[in-house]
Amino acid sequence: MRFASICSGSSGNCIYVNGGKTHILVDGGCSLKALNAALAQFSVTEGGLKAILITHEHSDHVNGAARIAKRFGIPIFASALTWEKLPFREDFLPWQRHTFEYGMEIGDLGLDFFRLSHDAVQPVGVLFEHNGKRVAVATDTGLVTPSMCKMLSNIEGLVFEANHCTDLLRCGPYPYYLKQRILSAHGHLSNIQSGMALASLIGERTQAVLLAHLSHINNRPELAMEQVCSQLCDCPHMEHVQISVAPRSTPHPLIEIY
Ligand SMILES: [Zn+2]
Ligand SMILES: [Zn+2]
Repeated sequence: MRFASICSGSSGNCIYVNGGKTHILVDGGCSLKALNAALAQFSVTEGGLKAILITHEHSDHVNGAARIAKRFGIPIFASALTWEKLPFREDFLPWQRHTFEYGMEIGDLGLDFFRLSHDAVQPVGVLFEHNGKRVAVATDTGLVTPSMCKMLSNIEGLVFEANHCTDLLRCGPYPYYLKQRILSAHGHLSNIQSGMALASLIGERTQAVLLAHLSHINNRPELAMEQVCSQLCDCPHMEHVQISVAPRSTPHPLIEIY
């Protein structure tokens, strides 16, 4: 399996996942131009993309989704409740609104879903499986719930949120209500929360962790890395784990899972 971020953060999110011959996007928060450049970089041929999965209705995850789906002639999948909130739902006839189902497969990829703790109508993370290897996308959550832990424990690849440094957020320019929202159980994971969760999720099978959805105002890549890693000092598996940060508006190099 292979995966990478195409863009990541509050201005747009799009994650690329490949298993066998199947290429999928998680969220469509990027422009066609940025997507085309990334797909060329990842050597995805015209017609290769199979679907866009929408995790929740926030604009940073859906802004470019309808344009991408129409340009590539691919379906958009979302939960039934999320579809009701998508700004472009009227452009899709009911039979064109594909919904998530447990145990579903798209091409070579098996899919499973887990509920996130976030202020959207039905936010989900996605777990992909191909040939016994698993990659999950888990951003936009204020908590790591027990069911998330169960799904994400000791998997090969993780795209995992490290949204903010709590001190930067508290002292920063955001209005009070927005700070409270981000810090809440339905907001976003701080770097320290992310590191604490990863300390229990990373196992002997884990190969790569891509820290994602960093706040532009309340985080910095090197700070996210430092604060996350500060929680991983006692993790016995770190010598075989590649940990890196998803850039805001450029693709991360492809990460390969063996
Ligand atoms: Zn988001
Ligand atoms: Zn969100």
